[in-house]
Amino acid sequence: MAEDSALLRRMLGDVLRGHGWTVLEAGDGETALRLAQAEIPSVLLMAREMEGLDGMAVLDALRADPRTADMPIVFVTGHTDARDLAEGLERGAHDYVRKPVDPVELVARIRTALRLRALHDELARRNAELEQLARTDVLTGLANRRHADDVLRSTIASSRRHNRAMCAVLVDIDRFKSVNDAHGHAAGDAVLREVAVRLTAGLREEDVAARWGGEEFLLLLPDSPDATIVCERLRASIADRPINVHGLLELYVSASFGWAPWTGEETGEALVGRADVALYAAKADGRNRVVAAGERLREAA
Ligand code: GH3
Ligand code: MG
Ligand code: MG
Repeated sequence: MAEDSALLRRMLGDVLRGHGWTVLEAGDGETALRLAQAEIPSVLLMAREMEGLDGMAVLDALRADPRTADMPIVFVTGHTDARDLAEGLERGAHDYVRKPVDPVELVARIRTALRLRALHDELARRNAELEQLARTDVLTGLANRRHADDVLRSTIASSRRHNRAMCAVLVDIDRFKSVNDAHGHAAGDAVLREVAVRLTAGLREEDVAARWGGEEFLLLLPDSPDATIVCERLRASIADRPINVHGLLELYVSASFGWAPWTGEETGEALVGRADVALYAAKADGRNRVVAAGERLREAA
């Protein structure tokens, strides 16, 4: 709360504290701004007219700072001119209390401001949650296709900016349809989840694994000119050890890998396209193997 008259400050503080709220007091605009930025109060009750930095100036400064941009501000003002009130509201004040301050009205207005604050926080929390959901594949918890497209674009942009290498890898589980056919869709789902876990476990922090399609995964390896060793390790981590399905089954599955190094010029689509051609070659070559884009296979040689 900011008010330059000690008497009014005392009266406002007493009313607010009487309602169980914690009150920080500032006697001028500069202190108010510093306190508000440091403590991020739920609501700022502030005199509109103050010596030095006045309420409007503090309001502008708080609105310009992302940490305090949403802080509800309630002005205490002697002005009764409707135009003055409208200007403050337009510049982002939440509400007004007119002098002489009526304690009942003051408390009601602070409550409304607090409610607004709580709604705002809840909305921000839900938005973050929704954003996270919109980016995540529900079954595996990996990035979904949409998010993978974004990451692909940004990884290429960053590689271009820093003149760095990168690789894209497409992974496709072998004969996955037969897992579903033989053991049911739920077993298939369990296999997908475990393959996702093994892929993630074998990658570095900065790598990205995404569910690209049904039983297909896209891996992005920034700063890597070659993916052979990583792919070989991941391939082995899937094929060498059975997947335990709901404690009922032990299933051996394998996956094929096609990878391509970024040329330094091509689009993400072109890069993944070349990884896809390599993946197709890995399938044709017998599955459970790693093929690099452009690699000459036995049949082709
Ligand atoms: P290939 O070795 O050539 O890749 O053979 P495949 O059987 O793995 O490939 P195909 O494309 O014929 O079959 C993919 C199967 O993946 C068919 C589809 O039902 C299954 N599938 C896709 N998404 C899911 C999913 O979310 N859960 C389960 N259980 N199965 C899925
Ligand atoms: Mg497939
Ligand atoms: Mg497959």
